[in-house]
Amino acid sequence: MYRIIRRQVKCPRLEVWGNEIRIIVPRNMDPWRVMRENRRWLAKQIELARRASKISRRIEFVQRTRKKFRSLVENVVREYARELGVEVDKIFVRRVKSSWGSCSGRRNITISAIAQRLPERLIRYIAYHEVCHLVRWRHDKEFEKLVREKFPDHGDLELQLQAYWIKLRELEEMEANPRRL
Ligand SMILES: [Zn+2]
Repeated sequence: MYRIIRRQVKCPRLEVWGNEIRIIVPRNMDPWRVMRENRRWLAKQIELARRASKISRRIEFVQRTRKKFRSLVENVVREYARELGVEVDKIFVRRVKSSWGSCSGRRNITISAIAQRLPERLIRYIAYHEVCHLVRWRHDKEFEKLVREKFPDHGDLELQLQAYWIKLRELEEMEANPRRL
């Protein structure tokens, strides 16, 4: 469930990737100290990862073509930009493996192609999050408020995204090691 990674970083970093919690620490730091200091956060993340794993076993993928997915992304991003009164430049669908979406300083929004098989509501949630970055750059209180107003069930949506992430990773691993099927 968790992995300790020693890397050339200045400060320790905690990241959640599906059902894997990564504790990234500088080479000379004791990872157990970092874990002790963040034990509450870790306990909460372990519980969330456990719930997401459970959900991932019964979720189903949505079948839609790449073309349909692209136009859905395009429409939803434009719709939210209008709603929030912000300008979006380009909208990309790309095979990014490290996140569901991103927003650049040049007002370009990228939605990961791995979201193609997600339910529309989750795609909308991802798109809205990125468009919100054109209003607030950081994940601060204002940003959270903006997301919460539109998606009061954001906690549940985050959990579902985590579950889909786990499911997609499993699928990828199976495709990479067909003998395990
Ligand atoms: Zn963000």
